[in-house]
Amino acid sequence: MFGLFNKEKREDAYSTMTVQQEISRSRSDELFEQAKKCFPGGVNSPVRAFKSVEGVPLFIKKGEGCHIWDEDDNQFIDFCCSWGPLILGHNHQAIRESIIEAVSLGTTFGAPTRLENELAELIRKHNPHVEKLRFVSSGTEAVMSAIRLARGFTGRDKILKFEGCYHGHADSLLVKAGSGLVTFGETTSAGVPEAFARETIVAPLNNMEAVKQAFKDHPDEIAAVIIEGIPANNGLLIQEAGYMQELRECCTQHNALLILDEVITGFRLGMDGAAGYYDIRPDLVTYGKVIGGGMPVGCYGGSAEVMGKISPDGPVYQAGTLSGNPVAMAAGIAQLKVLQGNNFYKNLNSKAEEFAASIERFADARNYPLKIQSVGSLFWFAFAAPSPIRAAAEIDPASMGFFKIFHRELLNRGVYLGPSGYEVGFVSAAHSKVELEKAKRAIFEALEITFKKQ
Ligand SMILES: *Cc1c(COP(=O)(O)O)cnc(C)c1O
Repeated sequence: MFGLFNKEKREDAYSTMTVQQEISRSRSDELFEQAKKCFPGGVNSPVRAFKSVEGVPLFIKKGEGCHIWDEDDNQFIDFCCSWGPLILGHNHQAIRESIIEAVSLGTTFGAPTRLENELAELIRKHNPHVEKLRFVSSGTEAVMSAIRLARGFTGRDKILKFEGCYHGHADSLLVKAGSGLVTFGETTSAGVPEAFARETIVAPLNNMEAVKQAFKDHPDEIAAVIIEGIPANNGLLIQEAGYMQELRECCTQHNALLILDEVITGFRLGMDGAAGYYDIRPDLVTYGKVIGGGMPVGCYGGSAEVMGKISPDGPVYQAGTLSGNPVAMAAGIAQLKVLQGNNFYKNLNSKAEEFAASIERFADARNYPLKIQSVGSLFWFAFAAPSPIRAAAEIDPASMGFFKIFHRELLNRGVYLGPSGYEVGFVSAAHSKVELEKAKRAIFEALEITFKKQ
């Protein structure tokens, strides 16, 4: 048996609590053993491995609405939602039908289709800063291409990123800050040449002085500043509007491009993403996740002038066999059409905000060291946070011990969160008020156990 945790320890810690029946997971355990023979760590993307919660991943069989079922037929209310794309929940009828319709005409042609135009128009219509765009197949590819374009457009090599922002796994972005306020990046992955990391400057979030310092230290060298629309890959580090607007001005002043990475926030916060939320006009923007309706899609776009540098119009090369894939386009079109309906975001966001607020009230009433940081339908459990957290360095790694217990207790109560305390949760339109109430009850119980020994 490969139990998720040590049974004896568990009973010891909860001797006075009602011990929740542990879910059966024998089928997932078996599949994981087999998967470990096939894949490094048994998975095809590292965070799926449950390493940071010290467990065995559940193998998911199907999803419907806000629910998923694992191979042992356990049912969960899902707040991972495939890490963001599924803003309408699992297996949404309109998306499923449009995928089936597209597939029935063939899966890929390597030639233009009208579906690419249609999805592009839906994106452009709500985002005036996106005059032209290009579809690719993942968020990583979108960001990688946007950075090449920024370098090609400005003729400069360096980029500035922020500690705690994730932009996919392109070489020059797998870097973290060294010691000091503004530093050259240190690689966070083996296999990234130091010479690449030296082209990336890393600054802390929520600190305008650091950005100004970087521009002062590297005059006329910085091609672009890249930031997540709302940093949501290392906790939910909500930046203030004034800071984002100043960042915009600072880039303009130094002739550097501002790349807003909206792979999570695009069409998640609203049709105009974080650009609309903060009322800023980025030079380049990247999308992924929601625009693909659950299929693999990424996209980067900006002004016609900047995008004019991309091949075949310009000298910056970028291509893709499956780019703008018709099946993926069909899914994205179906999803965005639902999203632009009346009051879609108003309803989703108010439902999600009320959910987050009531958990926060529960925690506050008991003096638990917990903040629920949330914006729109994104939320994050910030354990042991003294006050709102806006920069990566303010997250105490020791607080992840709480998350480990919390995550395990939630699974046993039928609630699925991404298996890391640094990851945000997603509420979808398919999370009904009734299901959110059920989830809340499970969350309250799990919190009581998490803080039992305090
Ligand atoms: C998920 C994500 C990416 C990477 O997208 P993939 O499709 O996983 O390659 C890039 N940037 C942000 C902000 C993301 O959340």
